[in-house]
Amino acid sequence: MRRTLIAGNWKMNGSLESIGELMDGIKAGLAEVTNADMAVCPPAIYLMKVKSHIGDAAIGLGSQNICDQESGAFTGELAPAMLKEAGCKYAIIGHSERRSLYGESDDLVARRFAMAVASGVTPILCIGETLEERESGVTEQVVSRQLDAVIDTQGIDAIGQCVIAYEPVWAIGTGKTASPEQAQAVHAFIRSKLAALSVDVADKVQILYGGSMNAANAAELLSQPDIDGGLIGGASLKAADFLAIGKAA
Ligand code: PEP
Repeated sequence: MRRTLIAGNWKMNGSLESIGELMDGIKAGLAEVTNADMAVCPPAIYLMKVKSHIGDAAIGLGSQNICDQESGAFTGELAPAMLKEAGCKYAIIGHSERRSLYGESDDLVARRFAMAVASGVTPILCIGETLEERESGVTEQVVSRQLDAVIDTQGIDAIGQCVIAYEPVWAIGTGKTASPEQAQAVHAFIRSKLAALSVDVADKVQILYGGSMNAANAAELLSQPDIDGGLIGGASLKAADFLAIGKAA
């Protein structure tokens, strides 16, 4: 049985003051979230601060990226060992904003993935099609290509050590959510693609949905058989909304 994971991607939002308030709010309502694991992915500069806010609460910590190298002359990057030291359990990898705004290729995403797995940080591997790709009918080819970049270099067993986030790019931050049927169809496709290589990996890997998930639409999305949680952007910045998504699981 796959456990539900609700992970908040705070993107480049917050301040020392606001993250304290957000974490206090999340911790205050956490006991009411009984069917999901919760995680937060703050901006890198706040990781250690958020870790101290988490204390011994059952909230996973994640980064929004991870370097494909161990250490050295890689200005602006985050070494896997540093993320481990800061207490990160997860690292978001290949978010569409990294791919489209900062030119991250499938190959680079696969290298970041490899480094995360090798360091004991669980990758949250983001994949998904643009609106143009969906309208051209190539959604499955796009998510296949993005997955194959990892599978071809790391092998199918590496997928068993990650979380996949299917995030249709047209639904991220736009308020346009994929319908539960649209999301389920792609999740089922992803799982069947993995099952062709390993039934065990396909059965156990958590596949999250991301793209304008909120307190109002979470229950229906999360009730789909192949949707194992959510990667939440905007709605993770308000404790009440984030907790409501957790409670909807
Ligand atoms: C995201 O950034 O991963 C995301 C899903 O954002 P939003 O929930 O705001 O669409």
